[in-house]
Amino acid sequence: MSPFYPLDSWTWRLVLIREQIRYKSRKEIEKLREAGRVAANALRIAARAARPGVSLLELDRIAETYIRQQGATPSFKGYHGFPGTLCTSVNDKVVHGIPTKYQLQEGDILAIDCGAKLDGFHGDTCLTVGVGRISEAARMLIQNAQLAMFVGIEHCRPGLRMGDMATAVQKFAEDRGYSIVREYIGHGLGRDLHEDPQVVFAEQKAGTGFRMEPGMTITIEPILNIGSYKCVVEADGWTVRTKDGSLSAQFEHDIAITQNGPEILSIPDAEYELEDGL
Ligand code: MG
Ligand code: MG
Repeated sequence: MSPFYPLDSWTWRLVLIREQIRYKSRKEIEKLREAGRVAANALRIAARAARPGVSLLELDRIAETYIRQQGATPSFKGYHGFPGTLCTSVNDKVVHGIPTKYQLQEGDILAIDCGAKLDGFHGDTCLTVGVGRISEAARMLIQNAQLAMFVGIEHCRPGLRMGDMATAVQKFAEDRGYSIVREYIGHGLGRDLHEDPQVVFAEQKAGTGFRMEPGMTITIEPILNIGSYKCVVEADGWTVRTKDGSLSAQFEHDIAITQNGPEILSIPDAEYELEDGL
């Protein structure tokens, strides 16, 4: 086709958007899997250490030490100036919680997000755990946040579009009485921590958005709140919390879309798995 074929501006926009997605070879997907494994292990080492009286900074040091021992580097540290290896978001904190001297308390819930760069590729994965005994409402929120992520993963299949995935995730969450955070979304993943496309989990129409195609590698990371989806950024410029003070939970996996469906790339080694199958 002639490069001067008169495409309308919307079609050109789609062509340009498409070109920014970097499709991965099988070899590149395996490198992402290795980086994802290191990030997933570090995440669980930190999650196991999350007990009453332990500070967020201690968890951060534990994760960084493990990542560096594996010959990897923390993806988040220094990213746009972020100071930590982990994002540690407690209770009503939504994302990007800076690891501080705050000591965890019985009943807290803690979302830990961990990124590791290995051999030029990034892993980026997140889970939420309870500290000691937690309320039934908190336990249900965590369980449903994990299930919402898996609903999203199930929809990472050739032939579906982002809107199909997002609609399913939003319906799952809202049917159970939770809201999905709008401002913080998933992304492509590869040599860069954040690549195209943007992966949204709410307010999409089924049958719209980018087409899921083999070779795409993206993160599925919906955030569920007990109350409203609205968020505010705290004075530190990073930490995001729910506007209404309600609890928030998040899970994240790295996904390769293949001919046969989704492949999860951020799987820990068996020895690092948490008791409840996380
Ligand atoms: Mg993440
Ligand atoms: Mg991410």
